[in-house]
Amino acid sequence: MHIHPEFHRFLQRQDKEKLLGQRGIVVWLYGLSGSGKSTIANAAERVLHQQGRFTTILDGDNLRTGLNSNLGFTDEDRMENIRRIAETAKVFVSQGIITFVSAITPRGELRDLARGLLGDDLFEVYIKASYEACEKRDVKGLYAKAARGEIQHFTGKDGSFEIPQDSDLVLDTENSTIADAAFELLEAIRDRIAPANGS
Ligand code: ADP
Repeated sequence: MHIHPEFHRFLQRQDKEKLLGQRGIVVWLYGLSGSGKSTIANAAERVLHQQGRFTTILDGDNLRTGLNSNLGFTDEDRMENIRRIAETAKVFVSQGIITFVSAITPRGELRDLARGLLGDDLFEVYIKASYEACEKRDVKGLYAKAARGEIQHFTGKDGSFEIPQDSDLVLDTENSTIADAAFELLEAIRDRIAPANGS
């Protein structure tokens, strides 16, 4: 073993959280493409920013243009995609940052991986919308492409999406407005991000 991780000499998470006046959390939004993950992360982040909270969004699509640009959509690559996103989120949350992750995360095995890396810092939110609803929205034109057979392993079609049974929160975007969904999410994490001393 030639690697010697150094943690104890560094400033601690509590030092960063005290500076920021908040506690870090990873809010992991998962669901089909077009279900509303990015939209809700963006809306919730803007409200928190207004309130003086320090936040960031790790967007699966964006990360695929950089950190994860060498990965595709096979089971193995999706696993590595989630591992890297979770490890990155871990770095951010250890600085006290409220970190939103927007990534399809289609299978229980992938969510277990994230849970294993992030533990109690993870707050899992299932963004619920049916394949049909997402296909109707078709924000990025992907559903039309998938229908034409132009995308392999498309989630919900030939790539499976396992409906989560044990998420911390479910937001049904077929029966809510964007503002309502964001508000419900912020209510659910309010106590978790409040500073330790309650100020
Ligand atoms: P994803 O990030 O999951 O791929 P997007 O956020 O890019 O999905 O797209 C979701 C689409 O659904 C947007 O066009 C958004 O306006 C629409 N939408 C309708 N109702 C809601 C809602 N309650 N919450 C989030 N998005 C919604």
